[in-house]
This record gives sequence, C-alpha cells and structure tokens, in this order.
Amino acid sequence: MKDVIVAKFGGSSLADSEQFKKVKNIIDSNGDRKFIIPSAPGKRHSKDHKITDLLYMCQQLSSHGLNFDEIFNIIQKRYEDICNELDLTIDISSILKEIKKEIQDGASKDFAASRGEYLNSIILSGYLNIDFIDATEIIVFNNKGELDMKATEINIDLKLKDIQRAVIPGFYGAMPDGKIKTFSRGGSDISGAIIAKGLNAKLYENWTDVSGFLMADPRIVKDPKPIEKITYKELRELSYMGAPVLHEEAIFPVRKAGIPINIKNTNHPEEPGTMIINDMDPITHCGTITGIAGKKDFTVISIEKTLMGAEKGFFRKLMSVLETNNVAIEHMPSSIDSISLIIANSELNSKLDKIIEEIRIYCNPDTIICYPNMALIAVVGRGMINTKGISAKIFTSLADGGVNIRMITQGSSELNIIVGIENADFEKAISAIYEAF
Ligand code: ADP
Ligand code: ASP
Ligand code: MG
Repeated sequence: MKDVIVAKFGGSSLADSEQFKKVKNIIDSNGDRKFIIPSAPGKRHSKDHKITDLLYMCQQLSSHGLNFDEIFNIIQKRYEDICNELDLTIDISSILKEIKKEIQDGASKDFAASRGEYLNSIILSGYLNIDFIDATEIIVFNNKGELDMKATEINIDLKLKDIQRAVIPGFYGAMPDGKIKTFSRGGSDISGAIIAKGLNAKLYENWTDVSGFLMADPRIVKDPKPIEKITYKELRELSYMGAPVLHEEAIFPVRKAGIPINIKNTNHPEEPGTMIINDMDPITHCGTITGIAGKKDFTVISIEKTLMGAEKGFFRKLMSVLETNNVAIEHMPSSIDSISLIIANSELNSKLDKIIEEIRIYCNPDTIICYPNMALIAVVGRGMINTKGISAKIFTSLADGGVNIRMITQGSSELNIIVGIENADFEKAISAIYEAF
C-alpha cells in the first residue's frame, strides 16, 4: 500500500510512560504510520530488567513448583505505573492476574514471554485510541514451527486491509493448534518486517534507542558515526556478525519486496537514522568501509595434511564428521595443505574431543590443533571491492593496536573481510579498526 508505514518500537522505546508519550508524538506526526508493532518494555537504565527476561524467569520458577510472586510483582508494577501515569482506564491489573494464573497453571515458556508484547500493545492501543489486533490472528506457523508466510499473508489481506490503523504485538504468532509461539530473542523486528511485507508498505520503520545503525557497537567505541545508507546485504553481514540493532531474520521479508527499512531513534526523531535499501540501488561508496561487527566465543580446529585437496573424498569425510555430530560451521578458510574449521562454542558444547578423535580416525591428518576462545570480527562494506589498501589498513591498525591476527578470510562477495583474533583482544581490535577508518 502506497501510503502505509509499518512502525516497530523496541523495548527501550516503550520502557515507561515518558517513552510512551514520545512514541505517541512520533505516530501522530505522520498519518501514514498506520500499523504499530510494539516490543515489551525494555530497560529504563543499565541496571534495569527487561520485562521479557522477567517473564521467562516467572515461567521457569513456576515450572519447578516455586513461588514467583516477587518477580511477577515487578512486572505488574511496571505496567500499572505506565497505565496510571498515562491516565488510562484499561483494567490492566485483571489481565495481569489472569496471566499470572496461566503461568501458575503451567503455561509454556513462549506463552509467558509473549505476554510482554501482548500487554504493552493493549496499553499502547488504548493510549493511541486505535484498534488492537492480536498477533495470533495474523502471524502463523506450520506444524514444524516455521513461519507460514502464505497463510500469514492471507490473514493480513483478510484482517488488516479494511482496518485504518492498528497496534499488533511483536515477537509471537500462533501454531496451527492456536498455541503461542515466539520468534527468537529480539524477534519483534521480524514481526514488523513480515507485516510490512504483507501490506506491501512503502516503508518499514524500526524505532530504537540509537540514531540508526552505527559504524561500530557504541558499547565498545565511543560515539561511533551513524551509517546514513546501507544495503540489505551489508546489513545482513553486520547483523549476522553480532550487531543487535535489527534481528538478522528481519531483513528477508522486506528485502524481497524492496521495502526500505529506516532505523530511527525514538529519543531523537529529528535525526535521519539509517536507511536500508535494495542492493541494486547505485550508491557511491568507494574506498571505505560501512561498518564493523563481531562475535566472541569460537573454536578453530586447524587441520593439516599434505595434498589434502588432491585426495578425493577428503572434504566429504571431514564434513560428514561434523554433520553426524550435528555441528554447523561458521567459516572454513583453506589453503593447499590445510583447512580451518571455525565453529561457535555454543554449537560444540562438549563434543569437541569426540569430533577431533573422529577426524583423526576418518581423515588421517598430519596434524590437528585447536584454538579455543577466538573472536571473529567482520569489516563490511560494498565500497571495498576494487579498492586497494583496505585490507592493509585493517591489518596495520590491528598490528599497531597490539592485536594478534589468527585468521583472515574474505567473503566471496567481496563485501567483507573477517579476521579471527583472541577473545581477550575483541574490544581493542574493534576500536583499532574503527579509528583507522
Ligand atoms: P530495541 O530494544 O529497540 O530492539 P536493541 O537493544 O535490540 O534495541 O538494539 C539497539 C542496541 O544495539 C543499541 O542500544 C546499541 O547498544 C546496540 N548496538 C550494538 N551494535 C550497534 C551498532 N553497530 N549500531 C547501533 N547500535 C548497536
Ligand atoms: N521482547 C522480546 C525480547 O526481549 C522481543 C523483542 O524485543 O523484539 O527478546
Ligand atoms: Mg531489538
């Protein structure tokens, strides 16, 4: 729809009544902001709790037969304060009472967590005086728990087409039997993207607490520069490599439909934020990088065997060891006589010794060495192609910063350079690269 903007507001954007007021001003200032997707209340300050975390805790305690009154009271007070401070007449206490009872009676983890967005959406719809439509009526999953985009699009067509404006909770949807299922953490971004796609919106706005996607994590680098424009592909690389601003799966639905995403700051709506646009759009961005992101806690298994490439079946055997152990590989840089498997520690759990033993038996390598506690940093930029000196600049900055590089790999898209370093050097390395550019 030509004149529809889908606007998702993150947890910190709706953390208390003051934030609700800012959100209302933003929505009222542009009549095209017709479909609003809220998250659950997030942190009001660094020592505060996210409502979603508290709900998970309640469910966990309850499932062990333990009392969760104390934690539920914190949740209850957050919502009641918001309603009272906004002078709303919604009887939120009764809804909370019912939710508490359902958690006591054995509600699922997903159900409990979803109530954060559910309650916040009821409050926001009351405050904005527009319709509330539950996400279970719109977003649906198949029996395998995968998003059923076809059925979801039919729901959007049927239930949203004739609606002027509505608030729809983020983060969850319904299974075929009606039970609640959530996306992974941060999943309200995905809900917004799906609804934007289904409505063929002209824009998907993602409102958060920073003025767009920044060149590096602001918790590591002081005042990093905002990225004005970025392609979906670059953003995907950065999100995947740990930048949490937008859930990595939120890109697919809108990208397919060519709907731009605008990351905006609820606390500074006058700032332009970041526009995420189609890969095809010609943007001149030669000679520099777009952003830096990274993740900690990987293990590198480095395998050497003379002429491994010439040995037919070598790589198949190696892969089958990982496949039969149900372990996914993050990266796999190789040379003539060696290959490194880079695997997230969370994938490996306690399987490392078994995997090494099986590689020894099955692939018969000359040597096999493990490096635990590795971090990966991705330097991403569409302007890196055909630009001499970018990698030199990265490596020099790391060397000057006293960071030891353990591995280097460049994506075949030439959109990124990935360096492997030790966990302990992570923050230092990101700062050093940022400074260099
Ligand atoms: P929301 O609750 O609005 O969904 P998130 O907490 O998911 O917000 O994401 C925003 C946060 O991401 C910021 O507060 C910031 O600390 C962090 N962050 C990490 N890397 C970046 C980056 N490259 N650009 C912007 N923010 C980043
Ligand atoms: N409230 C959920 C979470 O904390 C979803 C979201 O914020 O997008 O993960
Ligand atoms: Mg988020």
